[in-house]
Amino acid sequence: MDNKIVLPEDALKKLSDTLSKVDIVLSPEQMEKLLSYYELLVERNRVMNLTAITEFDEVAVRHYADSLIPLSIDGISEMFSNPEGTILDLGTGAGFPGLPLAIALPDVQVTLADALQKRTNFLEEVKNALSLDNVTIVNGRAEELGRIPEYRESFDIVVSRAVAEYRVLCEYCLPFVKVNGIFAAWKGPAAPEEIKNAEKALDILGGNNPEIKKYILPDTAETRVVVITNKRESTAEKYPRRAGIPSKRPL
Ligand code: SAH
Repeated sequence: MDNKIVLPEDALKKLSDTLSKVDIVLSPEQMEKLLSYYELLVERNRVMNLTAITEFDEVAVRHYADSLIPLSIDGISEMFSNPEGTILDLGTGAGFPGLPLAIALPDVQVTLADALQKRTNFLEEVKNALSLDNVTIVNGRAEELGRIPEYRESFDIVVSRAVAEYRVLCEYCLPFVKVNGIFAAWKGPAAPEEIKNAEKALDILGGNNPEIKKYILPDTAETRVVVITNKRESTAEKYPRRAGIPSKRPL
């Protein structure tokens, strides 16, 4: 069996078509990086669990366009593109949404955090292969990293996709956000319900009433949302609670 990952012949065009449907234009160099990332992702996925989606067109839509969606949403694209800004992706897994964002925003410092060492090792490999100087990779749980002074309340933007229900995610993510910074959560159709259940958590952790930004995944009829909350005040020291408690006993 041939072990080499073969990109579709028209991969570059397919990717640029998909991204242009959400008004995202990248340089040829950035597009090449996304293609190399795809090759590494699918190759390593044969020996470790990184992604359920491996077909190129699907990765272009569900991983790349979906990750880059904030760059095409009015009102938040400016915050993401701020070259002075810092972004943390909590529970990044194989790098989503943080790694495509880092490729698209080479002037922004992006930190990718995940509890699983195998995944952070994979991300180190991608960082080196693609020479991503603006990327930092951190292994650990949100509940522990969020207590380390270097990380606490030190990011302008914290992003997270497919990690936990919103009220739990607020306890994982808000401790990392600077006061007046934002927390952006990728969510599905249940977002309004999840937000309702998070009223108390937001109040306790210092998050404002969230705003829902809807979008449609290109080439699908699937509506998704990014839930944006502004951090209005500092998070009390006792949060996040110790590992496992936020999900076991949500605020
Ligand atoms: N964000 C990626 C991965 C989602 S899978 C994507 O959308 O494709 C969820 C990831 O979150 C896993 O890799 C898991 O290790 C990580 N995770 C779950 N709970 C965590 C926690 N408390 N702290 C750090 N990482 C966590």
